[in-house]
Amino acid sequence: MITATMVEDLKFRFSGKLIVPVDPQYQAARVVFNAAIDRRPGLIAQCAGPNDVVQTVNLAREKNLPLAVRGTGHNVAGFAVCDEGVVIDLSTMKAIAVDPQARTVRVEGGCTWGEVNDALQPFGLAATGGFVSITGVSGLTLGGGLGWLVRKHGLALDNLLSADVVLADGRLVTASADENEDLFWAIRGGGGNFGVVTSFVFQVHPLGTVLAGIVLHPAATAPDAIRHWRDLEAGAPDESTQGALLFHFPDDPSAPEPLRGAPVVGLGGVYAGPLDDGEKLLRPLREHEPKLVDTFQPMPYNAAQRMADFLWPAGLYNYWKSSYLRTLSDAAIDVFVDFFARVPSKHTVIVLEHNGDSAWDRVPDGATAFGHRDWPYNFVVTSAWSDPRDTEENILWTRALFAALRPYLAPGAYVNYLGGDEGVEGLKAAYGEKLARLAAVKEKFDPRNLFRLNQNIAPASVQGREAALA
Ligand SMILES: Cc1cc2nc3c(=O)[nH]c(=O)nc-3n(C[C@H](O)[C@H](O)[C@H](O)COP(=O)(O)OP(=O)(O)OC[C@H]3O[C@@H](n4cnc5c(N)ncnc54)[C@H](O)[C@@H]3O)c2cc1C
Repeated sequence: MITATMVEDLKFRFSGKLIVPVDPQYQAARVVFNAAIDRRPGLIAQCAGPNDVVQTVNLAREKNLPLAVRGTGHNVAGFAVCDEGVVIDLSTMKAIAVDPQARTVRVEGGCTWGEVNDALQPFGLAATGGFVSITGVSGLTLGGGLGWLVRKHGLALDNLLSADVVLADGRLVTASADENEDLFWAIRGGGGNFGVVTSFVFQVHPLGTVLAGIVLHPAATAPDAIRHWRDLEAGAPDESTQGALLFHFPDDPSAPEPLRGAPVVGLGGVYAGPLDDGEKLLRPLREHEPKLVDTFQPMPYNAAQRMADFLWPAGLYNYWKSSYLRTLSDAAIDVFVDFFARVPSKHTVIVLEHNGDSAWDRVPDGATAFGHRDWPYNFVVTSAWSDPRDTEENILWTRALFAALRPYLAPGAYVNYLGGDEGVEGLKAAYGEKLARLAAVKEKFDPRNLFRLNQNIAPASVQGREAALA
C-alpha cells in the first residue's frame, strides 16, 4: 500500500505532478482509452523527465509496489493503469526534436503519432506511426507499430535507432545497435517488459504529399468488394498500404443520407510515391462499383494519418480479438461478412490489413523480437459499445466470430492488438520460439519482474521453476 510518507518523500526528488486519490485531477488521470478498464492506483506519478521515472521506479522496487507504465493509455488491455499501486505516467513528456539533416526525430515517451507527424510535416518528413493519429508512440513502437508506411518502410520499431531506458535497478541506459544490443533486440517487439523508455530516436523519411482516402461500398456488396481489394493487393508495390474495413458510418446528422448510420465496407489507405503512379495503381480499386463515395485525394501525410480517427473515439467499452491469417480465403471473407451482418454494436469495426510482400517482411526474422512476418494478412476485431449493459452480448459475439475463424488463423498474433484475456496463449501466439530468448533478456534486466503489468514475459529462472513444478 502507498502511504502518505512515501509520497512526501518522493516529492523531494520529483519535478512533475504526484496525484493521489483525493486530488481533483485523480479521476481524469486514471482514465484510459478503454472504458471497460476501471482501476484505482494509489499514486499516479506524472513525470516531467527521466529523473522522475528513475525516482518512481526506485520507490516501486524498494517498497515492492505494483507498477504500471503509461505512454498515452491507449492499449485496450488496460495495462497502463493498476489497482492500488503506482502508475508511471509519461503522457506529459512530449518533447519532440527533429534533425532534418540526419532525417531523425527524438521523441519523448508521452507523444502520440499525430504529434510526431505534425512536427515532421513542415520538414517534408514522415514517420510511419500508426493507422490513426491518437495512438501512443511508446506502446505502439515497443510492440511493433503498423502504420500507413509499413509496406514501404517497415514497422515503427524497424525505424528505431535508439532508446533511453530506465531499468528495474534505476539505471538510465541507452539501447541501440552499438549499446546494450540484447536490450535493443528485446524492446523491439517485447513491449514494456524490460524497462521504461523515456525517449526514442527514429529514422524518418522524406514524404510530402501522399494519395490517400477510402472508397465506401454498401455492406451488402462486401464479399465481392473485399475479394476485389484482395486480388488487387497481390503484387502491389511497397508504396501502397491499403486495408479493408467493415463498419457503420457514424449516425451523424451532418452525414449525407445514403451514408448516415449505414453498414459499409471501406477499402483504402495511402499511396506514398509519385501521385501519377498512385492514380494509375489505385484506379481499379476506386472504379469498382457499386460505390457510395470515394474520398481519395492528395494530402499531407499527417492529414492521411488522421483520416480514420473518427472510427475509434475514446471512452467506449472495448473488447478486441486479433490474429494473423494463413491466407485471406473467400471462405474467411464470408465469415467476417456474415458476422458483421449480426454485429450487436454500431461502434464495432472489423479491420483487415495487408502488410506482407513488402519492406515489412524483408527484415530478417531474427533482427528483432517482433515475430510472424511470414503471414501477410492480419485482422483485428475492435468491438466497442457505449452502454455497459451490452458488455456480455458484445464479448460473446466477438468470441463467436473468432471461433468461427479458427480454420483460417495462422499460429501468430500481434501483441499490441491482444485484448488482455488471452493469458499465456496470447504470449505464445505473439512470440512463439522467441519467448526463450526474451525470457533470458528479461532475467538479465528485470530478474524480479518489476515490470509485470503488461503482456508479461517471465524471467527465464521463473519460467524454469514453473516448468519444473508443472
Ligand atoms: C484506437 C486504436 C488504434 C490503434 N491503431 C494501431 C495501429 O494503427 N497500429 C498499431 O500497431 N497499433 C495500433 N493500436 C494498438 C497500439 O499499438 C497499442 O494500444 C499501444 O500499446 C498503444 O500505445 P500507448 O503508449 O498509448 O499504450 P499504453 O496503454 O499507454 O501502454 C501500453 C503498455 O505499453 C507499455 N508502455 C507504454 N509506454 C511505455 C514506455 N514508455 N516504456 C515502457 N513501456 C511502456 C506498458 O507495458 C503499458 O502497459 C491501436 C490501438 C487503439 C486503441
